[in-house]
Amino acid sequence: MHAWIVDRPGPIATGPLRRIERAEPLPGPRQVRVRVSCCGVCRTDLHLAEGDLPPRRHGVTPGHEIVGRVDALGPGADRFAPGQRIGIPWLGGTDGTCRYCRRGAENLCLAPTFTGWDVDGGYADSAVVDEAFAFALPDALDDEQAAPLLCAGIIGYRALRAADVPPGGRLGIYGFGGSAHLTAQLALHEGLRVHVLTRGAANQALAARLSVDSVGNATDSPPEPLDGAILFAPAGELVPVALRALDRGGTLAIAGIWLSDVPALNYERELFQERRLRSVTANTRADADAFLTLAARFGVRATTTAYPMADADRALRDLAAGAFSGAAVLHA
Ligand SMILES: [Zn+2]
Ligand SMILES: [Zn+2]
Repeated sequence: MHAWIVDRPGPIATGPLRRIERAEPLPGPRQVRVRVSCCGVCRTDLHLAEGDLPPRRHGVTPGHEIVGRVDALGPGADRFAPGQRIGIPWLGGTDGTCRYCRRGAENLCLAPTFTGWDVDGGYADSAVVDEAFAFALPDALDDEQAAPLLCAGIIGYRALRAADVPPGGRLGIYGFGGSAHLTAQLALHEGLRVHVLTRGAANQALAARLSVDSVGNATDSPPEPLDGAILFAPAGELVPVALRALDRGGTLAIAGIWLSDVPALNYERELFQERRLRSVTANTRADADAFLTLAARFGVRATTTAYPMADADRALRDLAAGAFSGAAVLHA
């Protein structure tokens, strides 16, 4: 089969990915193999390719928004039937025994396995997954629509909950890419007032098309104080900007896995009055179940740009350049 690997991590213009030919993976105990139909392109893939996230294994195949059909079952695998359509997300495994797993915080597991970082992901013709960490997908979502939900959507859902906005409250969204445009839809369906603060005319236009309450530049002040905000842009310099936009008691949740350095904060202007700053780390399977159910019920729609799997490197270059709005999806 064909598979992309992270060969020499570095700036995307230097071609850190390479497409190789290799044997189909074989599913191990309680694993299934899927024939990949689509794989979403996540900013994390770019961070891996460029070396912002250190490689955990040389030559790993990226991609953790995988939609495909089960085509082989490993020993003891019985959760999915051959031919069934499933999704494979970022969280590929946990130990199930550490103190975090035992208290229902498996996203903080001490020994997690991440798809497309520790184990090969979906920039390939097929991929294997532990069956307990895959998801059946609602029929209402076609393959291209389902793919971006599997990381961008789920992480955005967790970030929205972390931002802790009360019913009918005011949410700020900083940065407006693949995850943010899904989260905004969810927030609007849940009755929040949504203010989008982002650079880029295309991102601003996408936000306006979704009928958010206001759209501004990333460093603008929103038209009203925020009960909660989510920082999707990987830009630490926006942390004080977003904290200053919070109302008393508001929460800023940082959704990304990587962030440039945060400048010094001023306690009075940016933290006092019980403003809170927190990160979001991966997700639990319960987050994923909850989000996929809501996405199907509310008709959350990803704005997608399709690329052939053979052009995965071009999709990442375009992501780095901000050449599309919404989410890129690779098609096998
Ligand atoms: Zn654990
Ligand atoms: Zn991701």
